[in-house]
Amino acid sequence: MKDSRIELGSAVSRVKVLFPMPLFKAYDYLTPPGPPPPPGAFVRAPFGPREAYGVVWPDAADEGVPAEKLKSITAAAPAPPLPSDVIEFIAWTARYTMFPLGSVLRMTMRSGDMLAAPAMQTGYVRSEQVPERLTPQRERALAAAGAAAQSAAAIAEAAGVSDGVVRGLAKAGGLRAVDIDPDPPFASPDLAAPGPELSAEQRAAADRLIAPVLERRHQAMLIDGVTGSGKTEVYLEAAAEALRADPEAQVLILLPEIALTLPFLKRVESRFNAAPAPWHSDMTAAARRRTWRRVAEGQARLVVGARSALFLPFAKLRLIIVDEEHDNAYKQEDGVIYHARDLSVARGALGQFPVILASATPSLETVVNIDEGRYGAVGLPSRFSGASLPDIRLVDMRQESMETGRWLSPALTREVDANLSAGEQSMLFLNRRGYAPLTLCRRCGHKMTAPDSDTMLVEHRFENRLVCHHTGFSMPKPDACPNCNAVGSLAPCGPGVERVAEEAAMRWPDKTIGVFSSDTAPGPRAMREMLDAMAHGAIDIMIATQVAAKGHHFPDLTLVGVVDADLGLAGGDLRAAERTYQLLAQVTGRAGRAAKPGRALLQTYQPEAAVFQALSSGDRNAFLAAEAGARQRYGFPPYGRLAAILLRGRDEAALETAANSLKRAAPRGDGVEVLGPARAPIYRLRGEARMRFLVKARRDVNLQAYLNDWLPRVKTPASVRRIVDIDPYSFL
Ligand code: ADP
Repeated sequence: MKDSRIELGSAVSRVKVLFPMPLFKAYDYLTPPGPPPPPGAFVRAPFGPREAYGVVWPDAADEGVPAEKLKSITAAAPAPPLPSDVIEFIAWTARYTMFPLGSVLRMTMRSGDMLAAPAMQTGYVRSEQVPERLTPQRERALAAAGAAAQSAAAIAEAAGVSDGVVRGLAKAGGLRAVDIDPDPPFASPDLAAPGPELSAEQRAAADRLIAPVLERRHQAMLIDGVTGSGKTEVYLEAAAEALRADPEAQVLILLPEIALTLPFLKRVESRFNAAPAPWHSDMTAAARRRTWRRVAEGQARLVVGARSALFLPFAKLRLIIVDEEHDNAYKQEDGVIYHARDLSVARGALGQFPVILASATPSLETVVNIDEGRYGAVGLPSRFSGASLPDIRLVDMRQESMETGRWLSPALTREVDANLSAGEQSMLFLNRRGYAPLTLCRRCGHKMTAPDSDTMLVEHRFENRLVCHHTGFSMPKPDACPNCNAVGSLAPCGPGVERVAEEAAMRWPDKTIGVFSSDTAPGPRAMREMLDAMAHGAIDIMIATQVAAKGHHFPDLTLVGVVDADLGLAGGDLRAAERTYQLLAQVTGRAGRAAKPGRALLQTYQPEAAVFQALSSGDRNAFLAAEAGARQRYGFPPYGRLAAILLRGRDEAALETAANSLKRAAPRGDGVEVLGPARAPIYRLRGEARMRFLVKARRDVNLQAYLNDWLPRVKTPASVRRIVDIDPYSFL
């Protein structure tokens, strides 16, 4: 057992147990005879009518309750106890996000399904014996088997035979059955394997990152480097150092998106001659359990994963790296609402280890943390290959003569023509899935909306359906307007990627055009295949939403055209300009990453906007300074604190009453402003009405304490759900 054993009085053995359920506290239990399980131990205990897995929580048990009223823990689970820094992190996260402690624990242990020790499986190795009757199929199976044990299914698949052939071969003596661990250990990273030789600039950056790793102190640091500057190589060097410095240390690398995660796993594997332990949504239950158990044992030393990997039960986490730290995908909006970048820094502070953030377009939050001395920063100002950053030009759409129903300006099509004749690849970027974002009846003006939501249905022409991008609702596109019954009157308005593809196919009929969005490449593997086709030059013009635009390396891509640069600014929440800058810098950064120089054109109706001026002049810092100034003036994050409260329910009257009584109960708070209640921009969603509050506070105000004082004063009716979102990123 690990570090955190405490001595409970020998007379009474009672402990607190927390269950992975929406519970705000742990409950008292008696322990079976023998030494009590230490804090962090996974146990089974009766809870309500059932038994459930839970964790011994380090709060003092309540000695006042008579023992006969308490139930007893029934069993210990075969997994190492959670270390104290994981427990502290769970408790900290619950306090910060204001979600129930048990809900946060659930992110670490799910329902406990990882805990049941899996049964050993039967595997096969080659035996010395050669069976008498060797059919060609058996020969193939024999060739596929080796000295390392593999399951019958794995051998059968490699040999292209049925499982039965493998079992038959084993019966005949050609294979020997052995037990195999269903959760095989991960190969150890090869820490002697040399990484690439770093440039002087990269070496200096790596050394500064490594210092706090070796000194075992907490420090958050940003690698601020343009795309292609070698940020990844530099932080992998720091990861190697952390693993070398302590033979039990574990390192976690977080990536924002699964489409980036899969190729990244390969890259890390070739750097360390060992595949890292993965953690993302596209894994089987068995693969998840393997990573979970091996991480808990401390055997998996290098973990690469999506934001939820932060809650894995690391035995000895010593470094976290958050790549693309500015990416909004780090904000989890379902269940417990949290921001994985911010929580990573908190995790490092609790575990006393460094956290490395990496980005070419850091978030304003991080930049201000650096300016005010809380975070450190290292810079990598130039691309490693020496390639220059793309030249970015603004196309003033007010000056272009556009035909109706066309979205590519003459200025942009001329550049695509030039690129095609030079045999180079182009990308047309539009961050909008489907064919058209709005379907309108030309007769009566009816807009097609989702049946129980205030959201527009987006036409998807490949499937001939209308789809709600907020809820996933979809329906076949009707022939007649549901409002006035006019036939053939429903007209698409505005472009999505499919419509731009249609225009491109018309303009360049003999070229290969690929449409990249989460609809055309559903799932990470399909996406991977399309990205490979692009990288190998099989596509002339790629029409893409952001899924394909981030992080990928296409050597022959030299032109990026942004079809509607203004798109992200519409509806303007407080981060709209910042997000637009980050996204467009990323997207345009795809051009000219190899030998050939790249260029980008942004189609906009407001070329004078600060964000476009900054992009075209390449003056990121001036833009950040202007953004920071505006946020400071209005007291918005990071200069002030923000929390959103969402109330939702089917009973609109009850919802409104609840919102108004909550408003009346709001205590006066120094430096706190309660805005709302107001109808949410998407008022009806999935049949529920939604109302919002925004709580704005000075930076020195303890916002959670204010909310904890306020919210319990009002009991919301059962028909209304109340959700608190600390540091909100979504205002819909
Ligand atoms: P970033 O993460 O900043 O986008 P990468 O680390 O991916 O940059 O580096 C960009 C490319 O340059 C990669 O192909 C990488 O392997 C290569 N590269 C970077 N630094 C070096 C180096 N010191 N030696 C060799 N190749 C390097």
